[in-house]
Amino acid sequence: MKCLLCSFNETNKYLIPDPSITHLNFEHVNLIKNYVYECKNCNHFFRYKTNLEGKIFKSKSYIDHKEQHCYFYQNKTIPQHELQFKFLKSKIKKNKINVLDFGCFDGKLLDLFLKNKLAEKAIGFDIADRKLVNNKIIFYKDIKRIEYNFDLIIFSHSLIYEKKIFEVLKNLISMANENCLFFIQIPKYFEREVLFSLIDQYHFFNEKSLRFLFKSLDIILSKHKINPINNDQVYLGRLNKKSKYKKLTKNSPNKIKLKKLNDKIMKLESFFKIKDIENKELFIFGSTIVASYFYYYIDKKKFTGFIDENKIKVGSKLLNKPIFHPKVLGDGKICFVFDVSSTLKKRLQKLYGNFFIFI
Ligand SMILES: [Zn+2]
Repeated sequence: MKCLLCSFNETNKYLIPDPSITHLNFEHVNLIKNYVYECKNCNHFFRYKTNLEGKIFKSKSYIDHKEQHCYFYQNKTIPQHELQFKFLKSKIKKNKINVLDFGCFDGKLLDLFLKNKLAEKAIGFDIADRKLVNNKIIFYKDIKRIEYNFDLIIFSHSLIYEKKIFEVLKNLISMANENCLFFIQIPKYFEREVLFSLIDQYHFFNEKSLRFLFKSLDIILSKHKINPINNDQVYLGRLNKKSKYKKLTKNSPNKIKLKKLNDKIMKLESFFKIKDIENKELFIFGSTIVASYFYYYIDKKKFTGFIDENKIKVGSKLLNKPIFHPKVLGDGKICFVFDVSSTLKKRLQKLYGNFFIFI
């Protein structure tokens, strides 16, 4: 078995505790044991098989899916693509650029480039046909057919699905103009081990392996931050020619701390043995991957629903269970909250009361 990045054939193997989860509605799949491998040479974490092999992204329910990733910031719900656009606009020095969004979903980010007259051509790539929000977006399903050169190439949560990642990147780099900017946004896997339960992706990058990948393609990365996107790593890349971009500092390799995850599962399960919880209604905070993951371990008979502050999510469902606003919490109700910052902890308690159990 060889590393998908460097072909070295010595790896460490990790068994991720069930459930395995797909990106489609965060549904549970327990088809295979979920093994993640770590390359002993480049420290990349990956899996050889996704079991679904991309099928899910071509399914009707995925194509019809209207998930919009949002952040709650300064009392407002802000869609992720607006935050990304604002950031990219500040980094681009000229108008009339050609933009490629690799994994463009419904084209909302490209739409902002067109509406703000920043893009001459907005090109979207995705593996499935989907209705795009702007008919000026030029859409491709096959990389080899793309006929444009680019000043900006966006990878927002997309490279992780490409098993043959080198081939894909080489193809795209051949379409990059000399000053092309590369934008890469991926989750911080090593701060949220639950993300390793995602069964439909191949790669789990840390800073070291991402830098290794791009350096081998002669692209220098610099690290950035987009507020309030704190759960993701954000990088900009430039083709390596006397780049003024600072090189990344050397980081010590990341490890998957499965002990932390297993401890959380045990802590959660231990609550169901406490008598006091017997007559309470249970909730889980959040309506994405983390919530879906820990739902697996919840006593289903007592579970009422998920809790989300995002008004767009309230009233809809996750795993066929309703999503409520936190204001429904009260006496006789307990809401489990996983993996949140101390700032969010304080805010939740202040706004909605002491109905939370933080794990
Ligand atoms: Zn490797």
